Amino acid sequence: MSKTDNALTELGVAAIRDGVASGTFTAAEVAAAFNTAAAEAQGALNAFIKLTPEKALEAAAKVDAARAAGQPLGKMAGVPIGMKDLFATCGTETTAASKILEGFVPPYESTVSQKLWDAGAGMLGKLNLDQFAMGSSNETSAFGNVISPWRREGSTAELAPGGSSGGSSAAVSARIAPAATGTDTGGSIRQPAAFTGISGIKPTYGRCSRWGIVAFASSLDQAGPMARDVRDCAIMLEAMAGFDPKDSTSLNMPVPAWETSLNADLRGKKVGIPREYRMDGMDADVARAWDDGIAWLKDAGAEIVDINLAHTKYALPAYYIIAPAEASSNLARYDGVRYGLRDLPQGAGLQDMYAATRAAGFGAEVRRRILIGTYVLSAGFYDAYYTQAQKVRTLISRDFMDAFQTVDVILAPTAPTAAFGLGEMVSDPLAMYLNDVFAVPASLAGLPAMSVPAGLDRQGLPLGLQLIGRPFDEQGVLDAGLAIESRAGFTARPAKWW
Ligand code: GLN
Repeated sequence: MSKTDNALTELGVAAIRDGVASGTFTAAEVAAAFNTAAAEAQGALNAFIKLTPEKALEAAAKVDAARAAGQPLGKMAGVPIGMKDLFATCGTETTAASKILEGFVPPYESTVSQKLWDAGAGMLGKLNLDQFAMGSSNETSAFGNVISPWRREGSTAELAPGGSSGGSSAAVSARIAPAATGTDTGGSIRQPAAFTGISGIKPTYGRCSRWGIVAFASSLDQAGPMARDVRDCAIMLEAMAGFDPKDSTSLNMPVPAWETSLNADLRGKKVGIPREYRMDGMDADVARAWDDGIAWLKDAGAEIVDINLAHTKYALPAYYIIAPAEASSNLARYDGVRYGLRDLPQGAGLQDMYAATRAAGFGAEVRRRILIGTYVLSAGFYDAYYTQAQKVRTLISRDFMDAFQTVDVILAPTAPTAAFGLGEMVSDPLAMYLNDVFAVPASLAGLPAMSVPAGLDRQGLPLGLQLIGRPFDEQGVLDAGLAIESRAGFTARPAKWW
């Protein structure tokens, strides 16, 4: 029995994979349905920088042919996905949402995207993001901001889909992609997932290869899946993860069978509740969602334990020194010679070309980060800022390691607020940075962390809960996420207005 196009876009990763494998529908039908939905929403949501319907169809045809020939199918067989435009895709323009990379067509494929294609996934298009993944709202994109499919009750004000993986979060929550890749340097998978009522996991630093991902802050950058539920995240992460000799920080460890090991029974597990995350003036709805999460994990059999993460308040300032420092170094390569844009004023020399190209190519937020980064790395200030931030980073890691002596997983809110309105924060970078307050500690410590939907706030907007695990214990994080998911009963979705 063949389903209508509309019904196919209701399906997530597991349902598509299983339906294609059993012959309920073809991969080509699924790709066509999502291609149509993505094209239809593009004008309103701007979730993609570039749509690649032919890529989705091409991958689907291969899967359908493999199935017809009785060949084994991959983990993501027949699943069309959105690819954050930070992953280099061979032959398809890759921009990092920056003018400086406009026209850059990589002659190579990132390891993670290649693994997904090898697993049978297809590409719906390159998803919009904050420029070079710097931002929390998608407003720093050079290709226009993404508009969240969500709206406050009784309002048509445009909301941020979160950032930097805001194209990914918007596409998955609007059901124009069953899943999407994200990257998380200081929360860019978790915060947009929380803002749009979907799930997303940043694995342990090193699980997913960084090779071929446009670098922001190399000691923090991690790729991960964004999808409708925990199981879909587990499936996609299995396809994305794995050792890569081309990335010197890649973990040389086998990829566990996360999906088949999923287990929401938390008896015998201890869940830590970090006191320091309960900040003065915390949004009442966020506090309530956190309390609900505690009750759900108790109900799943876990013991709840208060923990201290004493250096939490220094995490944000340390992150906003370390990340820009690494960014300023990583972004030195955009010089008008090697990639994309070149601005060569009449009669200008080499230095003038560098300056003109960088001034024309980088957006304001990227320039701000480069300036902060070069400042904190400069001879007179290195010790006062950069060295100090690195020490803080170590203390934050130690706090977590101490806590994990007692607890198995930590529960906290993902973000201090629900989605904010577009334009509400752009003029105040500090307020924007503060939105990352709960996300950056796990990034600095390299820990696996996930956001799952917990409920709606008083304005009808999604709130996310964050689970942080021991290094390499993605399973513990996914299991606790599943325990919450199965109790939260989160079925809300944005009403279609596009
Ligand atoms: N919002 C944070 C920043 O602007 C995190 C970004 C990210 O994780 N890529 O740096």
